[in-house]
Amino acid sequence: MRSRVTKYIFVTGGVMSSLGKGLASASIGALLEARGLKVTFLKLDPYLNVDPGTMNPFQHGEVYVTVDGAETDLDLGHYERFTRSPMGKVNNVTAGRIYDTVLSKERRGDYLGGTVQVIPHVTDAIKERIREAGLGVDVILVEIGGTVGDIESLPFLEAIRQFRTDVGREHTCFIHVAPVIYQATAGEMKTKPVQHSVKELQAVGIGPDIILCRTERFLTKGIKSKISLFCNVDEDAVITAKDVDSIYEVPLVFQAEGLDEKIIQVLNMWTGQPDLRQWERLIEAQRNPENEITIVMVGKYVDLTESYKSLNEALVHGGMAIRAKVNIEYIDSEKLEDPEVLARADGILVPHGFGARGVEGKIRAVRYARENGIPFLGICFGMQLACCEFARHVAGLEAANSREVDPATPHPVIDLLPGQEEIEDKGATMRLGAYPCVIEEGSRVAAIYGQREISERHRHRYEFNAEYADRLEQAGLRFSGMSPDGRLAEIIELPDHPFFVASQFHPEFASKPFDPHPLFRAFVQAAVHRGRDRA
Ligand code: GLN
Repeated sequence: MRSRVTKYIFVTGGVMSSLGKGLASASIGALLEARGLKVTFLKLDPYLNVDPGTMNPFQHGEVYVTVDGAETDLDLGHYERFTRSPMGKVNNVTAGRIYDTVLSKERRGDYLGGTVQVIPHVTDAIKERIREAGLGVDVILVEIGGTVGDIESLPFLEAIRQFRTDVGREHTCFIHVAPVIYQATAGEMKTKPVQHSVKELQAVGIGPDIILCRTERFLTKGIKSKISLFCNVDEDAVITAKDVDSIYEVPLVFQAEGLDEKIIQVLNMWTGQPDLRQWERLIEAQRNPENEITIVMVGKYVDLTESYKSLNEALVHGGMAIRAKVNIEYIDSEKLEDPEVLARADGILVPHGFGARGVEGKIRAVRYARENGIPFLGICFGMQLACCEFARHVAGLEAANSREVDPATPHPVIDLLPGQEEIEDKGATMRLGAYPCVIEEGSRVAAIYGQREISERHRHRYEFNAEYADRLEQAGLRFSGMSPDGRLAEIIELPDHPFFVASQFHPEFASKPFDPHPLFRAFVQAAVHRGRDRA
C-alpha cells in the first residue's frame, strides 16, 4: 500500500443547529471522491452519552448502525450513502466516550499520579481519535457536532486548533457553516449571524479557511465580499450553500460554487476535475419520474421523521431505480383506530420501534395490508408484529404477542433468547451490526436478492420464538431467510400475497442512491403495480 499523508478537513457550525453540516460534509466527501481521492469521516459529538444508542429517537433522530455494530449518529448514514467509505466504530466519537477513556486510564493509574486535565489529557485523547480515524486515507472530514459557542464543544475546538499546529497548516482546512438570513421586510441578506459566529470561532483561536453560507437564495458578489472582509477569508472561499429540492443535488451545487476547487487549493493538493456524471444522471432521473406512489409509514416517531432517516432515503433510492416518485405519509400508530385510512396507500411500511405504545395500531396496519393485498414491508419491530398479527388472526393463537409488549402473553411469539433476561445494562447490549442470513431457494426474497447468502445489519433485543415456527408455517407463513445455523428467523413472507415481506434486520442502512437496496426496490415496484391497478 502506498503511504499517504492524510489531510484533515474540520467542519464546524455556527448560530444554530440543523444547518445541514452532516449533509455538507457528506457532499464534500462525494466531490473529493469524484476527484479520485480516498476519503473517510469522523463525527465528534459533544454530548456526554457514551454513544447515541440509549438516546430517545424523539430527541435525537435515528440511531444509525454500522456493519461492525456501532450505534452512531445519523450523519454517518449520510456519509455512507454519499461515498464508498464504510463507516464503523472509529467514525463516531462522543465527549462521553472520550471522558470514559480518560477516566478509565486515570483509575488504572496510567497517568502516574499526574493531575488529569481537559488540556492536555482530554484534548490529547480527542486528537488520538482523529489520527486513528484518518489512517490510510487521503482526506478525512471531521465534523464537530453542536454549535460554536457551546460550552460542551470547547474541548473539541481546542483539539482541532492544536491539530493544525501539530500536522502543519497545509494539511488542514477549516470550514465553517453558518446561515445568511434573508430578511423580507428589508429585502436584504443579513450577514451579521455569520460574522458573529466566526468571531466566536476566532476567540478560540480558529480562523476558518472557507465559509459555507446556508441560504434560501444565491449570495451576490457584494454579500460575498462583505463576508470576506469581515471574516478574514478569501472572497472565493465564501460559498453559497443554497437550499435544494433533493439532498442529492448538494454535491452539484457545491461544485458549481467552486467549493472542492478551493479545498484542494487550501490543502495544497493536485487532483483532476471531479467526474460528476453519475450525480447528474441521478438528479435527472429524480426530476423526471414516470410514476408516483404513496407509501404510508405507520410508526411511533412520526413527529420527528429524522427518526426514520435511512428508511426514507432507502424508499427514495428504490423509487429512483425505477423512476418512481415516492411520497411518504406518516401515521401515528397510537391514533390508528380505523385502518380504512390506509386504503389510499400503495404500500404500507411498519418500521422499527421499542416498547408497547402504539403496538395495536401497528398490528391493525399489518392486518389491513395482509387482508387487502396491499404491498407490505415490515422492518425489525415491524416483522415481529407481523408475526404476532399472523399468529393471532391466521394461526388462531389468541393474544399472541411479543414478550416486550405483554410479559404475560399466553403465546410469546417474539421473546428474548434464553440467558438474555439477566442483562441489566441498557447500552450496546442488543444484537448489533451485520449478521449473515441464508435465503431459502424458490422464495420471493431469493428472487429479489438474486443470491442465497446475504449479510444485513441488526439492532434489536428480541427474536422470533422458534417454538412457534411449525404452527405459523402450517398456517401459511414462510420463513424465507434464516441465520446460517437455522435458529433465528431473519425474513418472513406470505406466498399468496402481492408483496408481503418483513425482515428482522435493517436493510435501509445498506441502501445507497447508486446502489438501491433490492428489498426497497422490490417493495416500491410492487407499490407501483398496485397504483397502476387502482388507476
Ligand atoms: N423492540 C424490538 C426489539 O428490541 C425491535 C427493535 C427494532 O425494531 N429495532 O427486539
